[in-house]
Amino acid sequence: MEKSRAESKIKAENKNKSGFFSNIIFNMRSAKKWDQKLFWFQLLAVPPTVASGWIGILLPAELVRALESKWSMGQLTAYIFFLAFCMWILEMMMAGMMEYLYRNGLTLHLYYQKCCFSKVMKFDYDMLEEPDYRRTMGNTWNAIRSGFGLREAVVAVPESLCGMLGTVFYGMMIGRKSILLVVLLIINMSFGFLTLSVIRKKNEQHHKKLGDDTSKAAYISRQSMEKSAGKEIRIYQMADWFLEKYDECLKGIDGIQGRIHNNNFHKSLADALVSFFLEGFAYLYLIFLLMKGKMRVSDFVLYVGLLEGFGRYFETLIRQVLSLNSMNISISYIREFLNLSESREKNGGIGSEKLERLKESGIKVELKNISYTYPGQSEPVLSDINLVIHPGEKLALIGLNGAGKTTLVKLLCGFYRPSAGEILINDIPAEEFGREEYYSLVSVLFQDFVMLPLSLDENLTARLPEEIDRQHLTWALEVSGFVEKYESLTEKGKTLLVREANEEAVDFSGGERQKLLFARALCKKAPLLILDEPTAALDPIAENELYMKYSEACSGRTSVYISHRLSSTRFCDRIILLSKGRIVEEGTHDELMEKKGRYAELFAVQSRYYKEQEERRRLSEIMEDAFEQQEETEGVFYEQTGL
Ligand code: ADP
Repeated sequence: MEKSRAESKIKAENKNKSGFFSNIIFNMRSAKKWDQKLFWFQLLAVPPTVASGWIGILLPAELVRALESKWSMGQLTAYIFFLAFCMWILEMMMAGMMEYLYRNGLTLHLYYQKCCFSKVMKFDYDMLEEPDYRRTMGNTWNAIRSGFGLREAVVAVPESLCGMLGTVFYGMMIGRKSILLVVLLIINMSFGFLTLSVIRKKNEQHHKKLGDDTSKAAYISRQSMEKSAGKEIRIYQMADWFLEKYDECLKGIDGIQGRIHNNNFHKSLADALVSFFLEGFAYLYLIFLLMKGKMRVSDFVLYVGLLEGFGRYFETLIRQVLSLNSMNISISYIREFLNLSESREKNGGIGSEKLERLKESGIKVELKNISYTYPGQSEPVLSDINLVIHPGEKLALIGLNGAGKTTLVKLLCGFYRPSAGEILINDIPAEEFGREEYYSLVSVLFQDFVMLPLSLDENLTARLPEEIDRQHLTWALEVSGFVEKYESLTEKGKTLLVREANEEAVDFSGGERQKLLFARALCKKAPLLILDEPTAALDPIAENELYMKYSEACSGRTSVYISHRLSSTRFCDRIILLSKGRIVEEGTHDELMEKKGRYAELFAVQSRYYKEQEERRRLSEIMEDAFEQQEETEGVFYEQTGL
């Protein structure tokens, strides 16, 4: 069933959750795509780091050995200078690369932002509405934005590699001297790995809860900045309650972070305690060998250095694995999101030639036995819709709230696919069109809208300035009634929109915005024009102007006009009345009035209401005129009498 599509997909993808090492490799590959050096330095920083550490251990031991061998002062100085110089070169290389990783690793999350952004653009529209997809998107976005473990990962990888190499290499060096020492170190390491796996499991739960609380906090803070939510928060006096909820989430996040740190701290404490005894025993054993004369002083210094180095490297390894654990969780979210299938588009489309021919000839839209059920719902919202919209026809779609008009529009736009039945465009099943091909056929004026922080012309045409068809734009501005406002702007089409992004941008009133949206819908040369309540924010004069120009706006196009205002549908060739997801009446205005059915009933109720409104408006105009006349008469009287 269609409704379980997202659920089953996400469940299937969750089953294939990516593993720890595969996530590290994924992150390294991403780093390579973002910045080649970021990838190579993660590997190249390892040898100089390990080598300089090794020289650091070797240096004092060699000094003692040279003294034991009674080297000359010159030989000794040259040798020590050589080692110190090598160490300096290696440390410079290491510091340069690590510094680069620290600095440029901070921008790796931008690469993931870019990937997720382009991914989300490829989704079918209905995915954006599905709660499961939204949750996955939210988790991913939070992981990227907060950068949990992502920024540290590029440094944690070379450090943990150094930790691993150092641990193995020093362990082997120690093993050359004594198996007992190696056994002690292996016990120490096993204990470290055991506590690590316990802590990773414990922290995993915390990380999940952390993700949930971060999502909640992000949602609340986003809402607090939204204009629409801002109105409700103030009018319904929800500010304190909102703050309380936000505070709860922040405390939750703080608490979980604290618990994660505590867990890590307890692990380090337990490890340090075990190391204290085991390493202490190892040091005692070395002292014993020295005292018994089974070891030279230079070897003693070397092995003490090796033991200390082993402990340090092992501790680095564990610390960095814990850090990579956070990265692991963030990358799992990102991969889960990037693995979501993008589109159900199965075919290559009908081809550009056929598409152009179809656009030129005008289109017929046929809905055959269409039913639609929202995902997760049991009852259909639309049932058995059979409808043919002929080329060039102006169809009005009316119905009370909840009748299914918006759902039908979304089906016509290709956002939803019918649960049953099929949509045909000029007898070609909608399924056969490529997604972009289908979208190119439709132009819509939606109720909810977005303006981009670009110029007015770019917003109107979705084209670069040099690609704009000026003649068509002028026509759209005139027909939509937006031309006066457009001409009144100093910068005209170059005027910037969206104040949040541009200081010098302009704002429009509700009515102006609606005209702008109408102009935008007309600018797109699509053969199917859908207008969803295009007069909702218009005053009666502007509304009347729109009706007058409606035929011109639709010339050569098939159009669907959605309105709750029945009088506006008179300009259409045919009216469809939807009720509870079914077509209940169909015909011209006169036919439906003659029928004296549901439409006629609704029309009578609305006419009465609008008549009363009109009467009230007329009365208030008469009163205003009367007051104005009285004021004028009084003015003349006072002027003439000088009172
Ligand atoms: P109209 O535009 O005529 O007011 P809609 O098409 O918006 O009607 O809604 C028709 C029905 O579908 C309503 O009962 C509404 O609650 C339901 N509905 C709309 N959107 C969704 C959704 N995303 N999930 C579940 N039900 C929905």
